[in-house]
Amino acid sequence: MPKDVYTMADLRDWPAVTAAEPAPIRLSVFGDPVRHSRSPQMHDAALRAAGIDARYVRLHILPGELEEALRLLPELGFIGTNVTIPHKAATLALMDEVDPAARRAGGVNTVVVRGDKLVGYSTDGPGLVRAIRDEFRAELRDLRVMILGAGGGAGRAIAVQCAIEKCPRLVLVNRTYLRAVALAEEIMPDGPVEAVPWIEEALGSQLTRVDLIINATPLGMSGPSESPIPASLLRPEQMVYDTVYAAERTPLLAAADEAGARGANGLSMLLHQGALSFEIWFGRTAPVEAMRKALEVGS
Ligand code: NAP
Repeated sequence: MPKDVYTMADLRDWPAVTAAEPAPIRLSVFGDPVRHSRSPQMHDAALRAAGIDARYVRLHILPGELEEALRLLPELGFIGTNVTIPHKAATLALMDEVDPAARRAGGVNTVVVRGDKLVGYSTDGPGLVRAIRDEFRAELRDLRVMILGAGGGAGRAIAVQCAIEKCPRLVLVNRTYLRAVALAEEIMPDGPVEAVPWIEEALGSQLTRVDLIINATPLGMSGPSESPIPASLLRPEQMVYDTVYAAERTPLLAAADEAGARGANGLSMLLHQGALSFEIWFGRTAPVEAMRKALEVGS
């Protein structure tokens, strides 16, 4: 019987555990937790649309199991895997080869098996570029950007992408201020980047000089909460992108609405980082519309 979530114990006994599967499992997402992941519905739709006889599953892998799980992939016939919280940085260190952009982003979210080697990529930053184009008809490289949560994995990947795109201005905000300072120095030592403490007055003056605000914290992911930025500080001409996709309208997006600003949630980033993973695994264009439809059905 196919399971919602497989474990390390299953992976160790894979041929027996998966003997009755309707199609061979060749792709997965490793996470802890991982039950919430919407990647299987999106990637299974892509595989069906592309006529590829394979399935994509969730694997609940604990940090202490990560190396063993990755090393089993070639012998078990996997094409690759995605990795999510909390494995992105640890996975980078376990790769045989790493794409330079992933090294700069400090984490890997896409692994491809090439022979007996594991090669790591990061599609989060490039996925965001496509999401901003999709949602706002805008190019990230033209925008002055503020990132909330510029200390975590997603915030870092997005900040690195902004540096690669040479955004005209980048404001890094983080609860632990020193992490934003360190990131600013690392990614754009002499560039138009500024680290700002998470204090309303400091945010207020910076917010008059940015076009796009990105939430890369988990604020808004579960339960009712306040917007990380009050509506009174937002302006109608701004764009607000919340990487959280647990809700159609997160508290930050409600604040954007109230201010008359355009807003979008993180489903489009999930879609496009997934489409880029597909392109890395199969070397062909991803069936994005089938993937989008599958995500919308589950939201
Ligand atoms: P992470 O590495 O754990 O980083 C969390 C970040 O959020 C850190 O900067 C942390 O600040 C900050 N933070 C945590 N709790 C906070 C609070 N109560 N108030 C203010 N700041 C807080 O997590 P991650 O992997 O970067 O993920 C962050 C978010 O991005 C998640 O919501 C995830 O769903 C989303 N994401 C979405 C996509 C997508 O495709 N849409 C892809 C990746 C991630 P400190 O440095 O002070 O701890």
